[in-house]
Amino acid sequence: LADRVKNPDVQKNVWVEFVGLAMENQALNVGQGFPNFPPIQHVMDGLSSIPVENHLNNQYTRGFGHAPFIQALGDFYGPLFDRKLDVHNEILVTVGAYYSLYAATQALINPGDEAIIIEPFFDCYAPMVRYAGGTPKFIPLKPAGKANDANDWKLDMDHLQSLVTDKTKVIFFNNPNNPLGKVFTHEEIQALCDFCIKNDIICLADEVYEHLAYNPQPHLRIGNYPGMYERTITMGSAGKTWSCTGWKIGWSIGPPDLIKAMQIVWQNSIYTCATPLQEACARSFRLEMERPFDGHPKDNPDSYFRTLTEVELKPKREKMAKILESVGMKPIIPNGGYFMIADASPLAKIIPEAELDDSNDPWDYKAVRWMCRQKKIAAIPNSAFYSEGHKKEYENYIRFCFAKDDATLDKFEEMMVAGF
Ligand code: PMP
Ligand code: GLN
Repeated sequence: LADRVKNPDVQKNVWVEFVGLAMENQALNVGQGFPNFPPIQHVMDGLSSIPVENHLNNQYTRGFGHAPFIQALGDFYGPLFDRKLDVHNEILVTVGAYYSLYAATQALINPGDEAIIIEPFFDCYAPMVRYAGGTPKFIPLKPAGKANDANDWKLDMDHLQSLVTDKTKVIFFNNPNNPLGKVFTHEEIQALCDFCIKNDIICLADEVYEHLAYNPQPHLRIGNYPGMYERTITMGSAGKTWSCTGWKIGWSIGPPDLIKAMQIVWQNSIYTCATPLQEACARSFRLEMERPFDGHPKDNPDSYFRTLTEVELKPKREKMAKILESVGMKPIIPNGGYFMIADASPLAKIIPEAELDDSNDPWDYKAVRWMCRQKKIAAIPNSAFYSEGHKKEYENYIRFCFAKDDATLDKFEEMMVAGF
């Protein structure tokens, strides 16, 4: 009955293959995006201090989000959107940001609708659009100038406009971008706002790396631009915010009519998220709010987000770039997030052609498989973040994750130097 499966074209999945391959080969994992160091102490304390003897903490909680958590989200994000959020109607808590994306696509995209996706994109956007019966239309960010800085990759607004038809309903806007690490500037966001408003398009703003923008580049929220809140769903992730990706708690914030449509998908599919984890997230936001800020949460010198980015991750970013350069790769320095893509084409001279698998996959898939099997280093092929039609153009890059402890990065350096 395999021929009856819906959407067979979405069966290939980069995480299923490459996370599996890393485990099979017991490889050093500098690919998948999760910190292998502990979350901040207050997040762990927040979870371990939940009174489980209060039996309500063990039962279903409010479906669209645990009350203390939506209140905390409202208090934290309200000032960032310059408005008082109606927490019952403008917030939905979901199983990770993944399910926010899924609920949004199911809620908004009808068969025949079109969705614009900026490449490189978090790989699930396209299959989610297709599951909803829609058609994704792709536009790549193009490197300009020396292009060794993620922000040198630009969106061609005329090209973007040319993709619009009377069926275009949404645009996915991932800022900071995974895998590239671009953080969009004020001018770029303003141009996107003008585009959405002019063409009456809804913006799905995936901002899971919102707190991971490196100084001096600020992260700006598209949902906070004039005329945008009413057409934007902003998605966040506790996994990325508190370095606890295994918790799988995410949220969407937006205008009541769009959030309501997502709540309907949610109430009929999952209904509620784990109570203790939501309680712990509420506690973490409350603790962070004890460190007042004006403008951006990172502005308080004691802010977790500042410590994580400026103190912990920035040196790791430098170290990762140096390691990649030392074996001849050309890294593109990210301004946000914890991924780095690098032009790995110089490795093509080193990797024996005969040792690459004979699939029709792009070069980076084969090179990353080879690296995992032969060198026990696990990374992610960059072209996984591109549509079929554009994969070949971007197959020279490999994505690495530098949210790894120093021992892992040291080991990575040793293995790279010995291996290439
Ligand atoms: N969007 C992007 C851009 C991501 O990288 C990820 C992976 N964390 C998600 C959404 C999903 O987030 P979560 O783990 O909270 O489901
Ligand atoms: N968002 C993470 C990444 O991009 C993890 C995704 C996943 O494991 N599915 O690496």
